[in-house]
Amino acid sequence: MKMVFLGPPGAGKGTIAVRAKEFFNIPHISTGDLFRSNIKNETQLGLKVKEILASGGLVPDSVTIEMVKNRIAEPDCKNGFILDGFPRTIPQADALAEMTDIDAVVNFVVPMEEVVKRLSGRRMCPSTGRLYHIVFNPPKVEGKDDETGEDLIQRPDDKEDAIVHRLEVYESQTKPLIDYYRKKGLIKEIDASVKPSDVFERLKAAL
Ligand code: AMP
Repeated sequence: MKMVFLGPPGAGKGTIAVRAKEFFNIPHISTGDLFRSNIKNETQLGLKVKEILASGGLVPDSVTIEMVKNRIAEPDCKNGFILDGFPRTIPQADALAEMTDIDAVVNFVVPMEEVVKRLSGRRMCPSTGRLYHIVFNPPKVEGKDDETGEDLIQRPDDKEDAIVHRLEVYESQTKPLIDYYRKKGLIKEIDASVKPSDVFERLKAAL
């Protein structure tokens, strides 16, 4: 099963992808995680995209497309994958269509006020990318990762200015993909405003 998870930042795509990858036994490919890992390891790509991520803007299509193309060519992707955060623009979607056929595009529907609440309270384990929320999904010990015990961080792009910018970018560049994939008959809409276990049940039912 080759799936794309579409929806605004903070819709819960990453949280649900972690469950879905176990269930379907396919890799979870988050372009945001790939960029963050390059930034952490100070690779050439990481240095190039660091400021872009911090501001909430989009990495140029050519760079992102190349990275995804290489990733889905790896052997673990032969039975499928979950793309989380890609495509985010029409040119990226066109490039993906040239790379492979997608089976389903799941659109995570969440009201914008909810998205802002989720993003501003979000915390992350810097080494594993595990996500928490200070109110909705707090760690066992405040400020610490449940498994590694590391100090949780707030992603630079979860600060208020960057959130506003990311949502503008979503509206202008990514939202048009809903119609793009609807025309192809691939869209499955799910109400993602409920708790993660319910969203996951809805995902399974939709697929
Ligand atoms: P995410 O973790 O999906 O919210 O992505 C974090 C950031 O990574 C985004 O705000 C962009 O700066 C960058 N990014 C992730 N995926 C893409 C993409 N498909 N195209 C361009 N930039 C991306």
